Amino acid sequence: MASIIDGKAIARQMQDEMKSDVDKLVKKGVTPRLEVVLVGDDPASHVYVRNKERACEKVGVETSTHRLPAAETTQKQLLELIDSFNRDPKIHGILVQLPLPGHIEEGAVLNAIDPDKDVDGFHPVNVGRMVVGEPGFLPCTPHGIQQLLIRSGIETKGKHVVVVGRSNIVGKPVANILLQKKEGANAVVTVVHTAAPDMSVFTKQADILIVAAGRPGMITGDMVKEGVVVIDVGMNRVDDPTKEKGFRLTGDVDFDSVSKKASWITPVPGGVGPMTITMLLHNTIQSARKTLDLKKP
Ligand code: NAP
Repeated sequence: MASIIDGKAIARQMQDEMKSDVDKLVKKGVTPRLEVVLVGDDPASHVYVRNKERACEKVGVETSTHRLPAAETTQKQLLELIDSFNRDPKIHGILVQLPLPGHIEEGAVLNAIDPDKDVDGFHPVNVGRMVVGEPGFLPCTPHGIQQLLIRSGIETKGKHVVVVGRSNIVGKPVANILLQKKEGANAVVTVVHTAAPDMSVFTKQADILIVAAGRPGMITGDMVKEGVVVIDVGMNRVDDPTKEKGFRLTGDVDFDSVSKKASWITPVPGGVGPMTITMLLHNTIQSARKTLDLKKP
């Protein structure tokens, strides 16, 4: 039976460490600050943003959320707001919650964020830095996955990591991060997607299997080898009339069958989820620390 990779506990531990980092920065005159922009009233986005606000408060990162109406907000207004954040030296991180309403071009908005304040790590400059292995902001969910592996003492060097999914926010970046010739990476990486005729040919070879497909219970016990480490990124709402909300959250991995063969596995919820916000805080604090370094003679 697999050991559980407890994302909640690891996130809590990291946030405690961050709190003392923030205290030190504040003593030196810099309070990390994150601006969040939320356009429209997508209920899931409102939940994410509230969780981000709570996490910021816990570690001492200042934050304000700009809640804008979907229909009345123009792309021009949004770009002007971002420009004002870019120019404000007291702001260290800018996050635009996706999705944006259809009349606003997401790419134009994300690309307008100063790459040195792009704490989500989605700006092409930061994507480029990640691919070539230069310092920059790593995207939060993939970076959180790497931290889960490192902090659980799971070796990645020379291991075969199979990633299911090639999205720009999870699959591609996690493959790139674990491919780097660096500590906590240096893996042999395969990326699988819908064009693979038989995905299980690849998943069965994985020493570490990272699943980010958005398909509930897609990976079953017969698709993995004994001793595999499984990171389930999936966060799917499945109808469940026995629950008060009428749904439950479930991963992309069939936990019951896969956990019987795996050596380590993340639960859903409580695995990758708590790490995403934690790494956002990490990036914001890193950005604030950089301004302090710049002040040094
Ligand atoms: P996405 O943009 O929909 O991408 C899904 C990827 O999975 C695509 O590359 C797709 O392949 C591939 N895929 C889908 N079905 C497949 C199948 N049957 N066989 C092989 N590949 C398949 O999703 P995402 O944004 O990466 O998110 C994935 C999941 O992670 C979702 O459940 C999401 O909610 C969750 N998530 C969680 C967090 C967190 O903080 N825990 C953060 C982000 C996302 P093609 O490219 O060929 O279409």
